[in-house]
This record gives sequence, structure tokens and C-alpha cells, in this order.
Amino acid sequence: QETDIAEMLEDVADRFSFQIRQKRISIRTIVRRDISTAWLDRDQIDQVLGNLVSNALKYTSEGGSIEIEAGRNSEGMLEISVRDSGIGIPKKDIERIFERFYRVDKARSRNMGGTGLGLSIAREIVKAHGGAISLQSELNKGSKVTFTLPLEKQRRDGA
Ligand code: ATP
Ligand code: MG
Repeated sequence: QETDIAEMLEDVADRFSFQIRQKRISIRTIVRRDISTAWLDRDQIDQVLGNLVSNALKYTSEGGSIEIEAGRNSEGMLEISVRDSGIGIPKKDIERIFERFYRVDKARSRNMGGTGLGLSIAREIVKAHGGAISLQSELNKGSKVTFTLPLEKQRRDGA
């Protein structure tokens, strides 16, 4: 359905407001001027955003920050990224992080809850919608997950 991007990002931040307040995380949503609405499968994209924000919260310590940003990339696709100031991911693990059940060393994930499925589900949804997802991370500095979605439908509909 036609979705207001700013509203969608604020909604996902609101869904996690309890944990955000509890960990004193500062969260910011940014919508660049080159996009305002898009035709999206709202339930599915909400699930992707939820998984990414849940990770950002889980793997960022108290007082950290999270930024959710949307815009249009150089290929004219919708691009949304979730950046955190968290613990980061070691280089050797980055390429496997989207695999099902893959988690970075059990010691740090043990008490976190979860199954290691969040990112693989996110990737499946994004791929099914014709987009791509990638992750950049620096150990002890933070992570940034970026996904893209085509905006083709809007053009066809003349919206
Ligand atoms: P689930 O999402 O099923 O609850 P999970 O969060 O462990 O469990 P994924 O979301 O697939 O699983 O993430 C896989 C692993 O990648 C995590 O266990 C964690 O080690 C690492 N990871 C994911 N996102 C981040 C992040 N933002 N910062 C640091 N590490 C992360
Ligand atoms: Mg997760």
C-alpha cells in the first residue's frame, strides 16, 4: 500500500520505545528530501525494520544511539538503513551473518535471547521484493544495515 516513509520509521521506533527508554538509547529517524511515500508491502517491510531495530537495540549498550535513515539511492531505489553505535561484528563473521541460525560467538549472544533467524528472514523478505540487503560493521564502533527496494510500481501507476 502507499506508505508515508517518515510515518513508517516513526512507527517502528515507537514499537520499541520501552526498550529504548530502558537502555537510554537515543533514536533518530531521517527521511531525505528525495523521497516521501512509496508503494510497499507494509507488513513485510515492518518485519524487516523490526528485526533490524531489534538487533540494533540488543547489540548496543546503554546510552548508545540508533539512526534510521531513508532516501533514494543512485539507482533510484528506496534505500533504508539502520545504524547503531553498538558492539559491532568481527570482519570474519560479516559475510556469514545473513545465514540462518548464524550468530557471532555464543558467549556474547548467549544471554541475548533469539535464534539467529532475524537477519536471514530480513534478507528473504527484501529479496522477495526485488531488493538487496547488506551490512557494514566495525568491531566496538557499530553496525549499519542497508536495504533497498524498487520503486518501479509507483512509476507504472503514474503516482
Ligand atoms: P533473532 O533475530 O532470531 O532474535 P539474533 O538477533 O541472534 O536472533 P540475527 O538477527 O539473525 O539473530 O543476527 C545474527 C547475529 O548477528 C546476532 O546473533 C549477532 O551476533 C549479530 N548481529 C546482528 N545485528 C547486529 C548489530 N546491529 N550489532 C552487532 N551484532 C549484530
Ligand atoms: Mg535479531
